[in-house]
Amino acid sequence: MGSKKMIQDPQQIEAILAKAKFIRLALSDPETGNPYLIPLSFGYEDNAIYLHGSASGKKIDIIRKNNKVCFEADIETEVITSDDPCNYNVRYRSVIGYGRAQILEGYDEKVEGLTVLSEHYGKEGPFEFEEEKVKRLCVIKIEIERMTGKEYGF
Ligand SMILES: Cc1cc2nc3c(=O)[nH]c(=O)nc-3n(C[C@H](O)[C@H](O)[C@H](O)COP(=O)(O)OP(=O)(O)OC[C@H]3O[C@@H](n4cnc5c(N)ncnc54)[C@H](O)[C@@H]3O)c2cc1C
Repeated sequence: MGSKKMIQDPQQIEAILAKAKFIRLALSDPETGNPYLIPLSFGYEDNAIYLHGSASGKKIDIIRKNNKVCFEADIETEVITSDDPCNYNVRYRSVIGYGRAQILEGYDEKVEGLTVLSEHYGKEGPFEFEEEKVKRLCVIKIEIERMTGKEYGF
């Protein structure tokens, strides 16, 4: 196995996000003190993460109370077994980011977010989004304040 190392190059960190299929979004409810973590589809552009989903539910309730978030994404993961279970390892490249989530209200900015999301999953725009669906959906933008990258086993 190669060594464990922090990834400093912002372009390499972005490349991990570009390849990742999903993120895990961590939230913290200030009323209960409880953490909440959910897997989500996402898109990334210009130092921002875009998410979409229902306009109601636990994650939206928490974000409205506390918009400080943390997220994680990983790629190229593989468990490396060994005869000695103490020598098992995991190969990975991962990113952890911190930022502020904002629920987008404007129609055009929601379409922009949905476009970034759609492009992340391999389709090329321009896209036609149904107006009613755009209005109904919740689109969240996370302005990233800080990101770290790490890899192991390469
Ligand atoms: C790979 C993947 C990609 C996804 N992509 C999206 C996406 O792009 N947009 C989107 O809105 N949702 C997506 N989901 C579903 C997402 O994880 C949440 O279930 C959903 O967003 C609802 O969250 P909420 O806080 O509003 O849930 P609520 O309905 O308010 O949650 C109620 C309770 O259900 C439980 N719960 C919620 N979600 C999950 C879960 N995923 N697994 C187990 N228990 C759960 C929680 O404990 C919570 O207390 C994805 C799930 C997976 C696994």
